[in-house]
Amino acid sequence: MSSPSTHFTTCNLCEAMCGLAVTVEGGRVTSIAGDEQDSFSAGHICPKAFALREVYEDPDRLRQPMRRTANGFVPIGWEEALDEVASKLSAIRRRDGKHSIGIYAGNPTVHNLQALLGYAGFLRALGSRNRFDANSQDANPRLLTSLLLYGEHTTIPVPDIDRTHYMLMLGANPAASGGSLMSLGDVKKRVRGIKARGGKLVLIDPRRSETSDWASEHHFIRPGGDAAFLLALLHVLCAEQKVRWAEVRRLSRDSERIEALVRDFAPATVAEQIGIPADTIIRIAREFAAAPSAVAYGRVGTCQQELGTVANWLIDVLNLFTGNLDREGGSMFPQPAFDLGALGRKVAGSDYARWRSRIRGLPEVGGNLPASVMAEEMETAGPGQIRALVCVLGNPVMSVPNSARLDRALAGLEFMVSLDYYINETSRHAHIILPGRHALERSQYDVVFHALQVRNTAKYSLPVLQPAADSRTDFDILYELSMRLGGLRTGVPLVDQALKLGHRFGLRLTPEHIVDLAVRTGTYGDRFLPGRHGLSLRKLTESPHGIDLGPLRTCLAKRIRTQDGQINLAPQILIDDVQRVRTWLTHTKESGMLLIGRRQLRTNNSWMHNCPSLVKGPDRSALLMNPEDATRLGLTEGQTVQVDSRVGSVTVTLAISDEIMPGVVSLPHGFGHQQAASTLRVAGALKGSNVNLLTDETLLDPLSGTASLNGVPVRISTPPQREATV
Ligand code: SF4
Repeated sequence: MSSPSTHFTTCNLCEAMCGLAVTVEGGRVTSIAGDEQDSFSAGHICPKAFALREVYEDPDRLRQPMRRTANGFVPIGWEEALDEVASKLSAIRRRDGKHSIGIYAGNPTVHNLQALLGYAGFLRALGSRNRFDANSQDANPRLLTSLLLYGEHTTIPVPDIDRTHYMLMLGANPAASGGSLMSLGDVKKRVRGIKARGGKLVLIDPRRSETSDWASEHHFIRPGGDAAFLLALLHVLCAEQKVRWAEVRRLSRDSERIEALVRDFAPATVAEQIGIPADTIIRIAREFAAAPSAVAYGRVGTCQQELGTVANWLIDVLNLFTGNLDREGGSMFPQPAFDLGALGRKVAGSDYARWRSRIRGLPEVGGNLPASVMAEEMETAGPGQIRALVCVLGNPVMSVPNSARLDRALAGLEFMVSLDYYINETSRHAHIILPGRHALERSQYDVVFHALQVRNTAKYSLPVLQPAADSRTDFDILYELSMRLGGLRTGVPLVDQALKLGHRFGLRLTPEHIVDLAVRTGTYGDRFLPGRHGLSLRKLTESPHGIDLGPLRTCLAKRIRTQDGQINLAPQILIDDVQRVRTWLTHTKESGMLLIGRRQLRTNNSWMHNCPSLVKGPDRSALLMNPEDATRLGLTEGQTVQVDSRVGSVTVTLAISDEIMPGVVSLPHGFGHQQAASTLRVAGALKGSNVNLLTDETLLDPLSGTASLNGVPVRISTPPQREATV
């Protein structure tokens, strides 16, 4: 056996981008530890990183393409599989047009350099408007806000958490998530650091989450109440003349429209409905304005709701009104070495609602339609009906609202292909499954998350393990399919020229070529000048712990892409949408019990439930309920309860805890693998139900199409003596 060797890479499981030191001996991973020298994470690691080895060794993981037959899935060769997929898709496209092929990209796509770059080209080769991605489950309000205010989806401000004196955090749980739309690296040190250096972290969430242990104070808020809360904070700032008008007018236009808008939202008019007392709202507004630096930040709780875009917009307004946008210690814009904006403009465009879904007329955001419409677009006959689906690293049957309906719709498709290395609830419907290489067998550069990090760094990692024989990366797969479907086009002239030329001489484009080109022509690049100091792929390869590019800097003038270089602070569609906040305030009493999700440290995506080390220990699938509600309903700890919504019904175990707000119950995502129990043998043996059998595809933020996965009206009861409907 060869002697052990240590390799440095980046964990790609969540947005934190932790540096890993992976020891390999005889072709096997023998240990995974945090890389103490990593330029961003400084040794931080969470239990999920160890699952990389478990997934690699998982006997349920697919290592070669599979074809579905009447007798189950059987392995086939790569060329046969790719030819068959291309031929089926081409035939359907010829017969029913390019929009008859749907494409869904799951969250792992953006954590995987190979898949991300391959997907960008494949979208163009396919040319369908029936594109969907996981952003419409949790991020579109943020992307749309950035487009409307700054002219680009990817111009996303992040908290300057290392230097802020006051952080107002809404609907986020970085202690469990590792940080999201805010890549943190050394999560624990950074979040705890605010309080440790004398600052204040104020947490607003319907659940007193794990992050509350690191916060100075926590306040419950009724799900969906964020926009009203933020309007009330802005009301206080305007009424008490605490707005930094000179700064606001220097950076933006139309700010006076906001001042007029918030007049109706005095704290006393929203307090009861949102569940936060008026004097607390006033105190937080005053503290925020008085802090030497402050930042408001919202995550999934502010996105997975019917007022998500308004809430995300108001977060930026609050930061700007207090002089904390694009300022040290406030909300700042990263300057990544690989300009995500350039890629984003090619993939997502720079406009909004360029087309709408066929049945409900919901707008595209960033080139994607809401995943909530996928089922109806498959079920409803007529021009533009989705007849085939390409599912890239996603399991929408577990993650899209009313998943039972989507499950049925997938079963009715004429053809489906999944890029996945598990046969899960979604890929079990595929006619062909194409499994890409495991994370440790491929190179990595986090194109997306370097653009969202709280300190500028750049890191490229070589594969840790020798790729398995006859294996393909997701880039290889998507490249091959694109070529078979008529050619790869990125839309970046330089890259397309290189592609054409390379193809003529039998040279193959690789993700490494793209990364090299992007970083060399980017902010810190060497511009291809010999001897010039600057970044290149070679320099990154020589720096296995990553390269620190310094703290966030004031740079809005370089990042903004509005025509006049000013922030478009009061877009008419957002001003108009505040009317829905008013309506929400008058209807809160009628909604009854509301269901929210729950992020857990040991899961990110549903496939992690097939890792024994992540699912061992106590059952984590229970429904959380406040003791007041349990007493009122006559329910007791540990009993089985039935949860009903408009679309479905599940039975789950009840856990009673005052960490959840009265009137609200919580179920985590990703449980309930009974449908795929024979191919996900660890996950399939777990207790729990799929929360998306309850979430409702008709509940969404109409501006961004984002599913309202939080705040779903439900009824809780004792189940009758029969089998659960799951
Ligand atoms: S926090 Fe995220 S990136 Fe870091 S080890 Fe855990 S899963 Fe990986």
